[in-house]
Amino acid sequence: MHIDYRTKINKMINIVLFGPPGAGKGTQSSKMKEKYQLVHLSTGDLLRSEIAAGTELGLEAKKLMDAGKLVPDEVVIGMIDHKLKTNKDANGFIFDGFPRTVAQAEALDKLMQQNDTKISGMIALEVPEEELVKRLLERGKTSGRADDKNEELIRTRVQEYENKTAPVAGYYKAQNKYSSIKGVGSIDEIFDDISKTVDNF
Ligand code: AMP
Repeated sequence: MHIDYRTKINKMINIVLFGPPGAGKGTQSSKMKEKYQLVHLSTGDLLRSEIAAGTELGLEAKKLMDAGKLVPDEVVIGMIDHKLKTNKDANGFIFDGFPRTVAQAEALDKLMQQNDTKISGMIALEVPEEELVKRLLERGKTSGRADDKNEELIRTRVQEYENKTAPVAGYYKAQNKYSSIKGVGSIDEIFDDISKTVDNF
């Protein structure tokens, strides 16, 4: 007889979608959100909403974002904490653009624990730097994002990723929760690879 001992912990799917700016995290998140009925949390989007609403937090964050630098850990951790509390009935979450530092990854594990759940795994999209720069400059023509407009700023963001964010992969590797996927190819091919990984979580 099969007894299902699974609790809420195992039923939730909580994915860290990882990769440098321009890797396709936003595009793939919308498809994942649809297929797996997850709540999509992008700290970049949340910060841009704060800017649009003209909040003090938004104004402070804007200076750093326009310079291609990361905003302080406390700011993004606080926003994620709030979103987890206001989405108690979610099937799970896609974290897009978060965590971007090891301190954020540690804070996320604590928040997951407090919510009786855990991270299922990290999916890292691998894309070469020249392709990233090309994609972001192209996106800059329509995104209206100041940080997509010039090559120097884009390279600062990629550098910030290499210095502060890339080590986050090691944090999940150490927990055997890391999967890497080729982020170059058609959107649907990449999504198929992501789905195969998620189906094994
Ligand atoms: P994104 O939309 O993910 O490319 O983020 C745009 C900008 O928002 C980044 O260049 C950072 O300035 C800021 N940002 C977004 N998420 C984070 C995060 N988790 N930690 C620090 N800064 C962030």
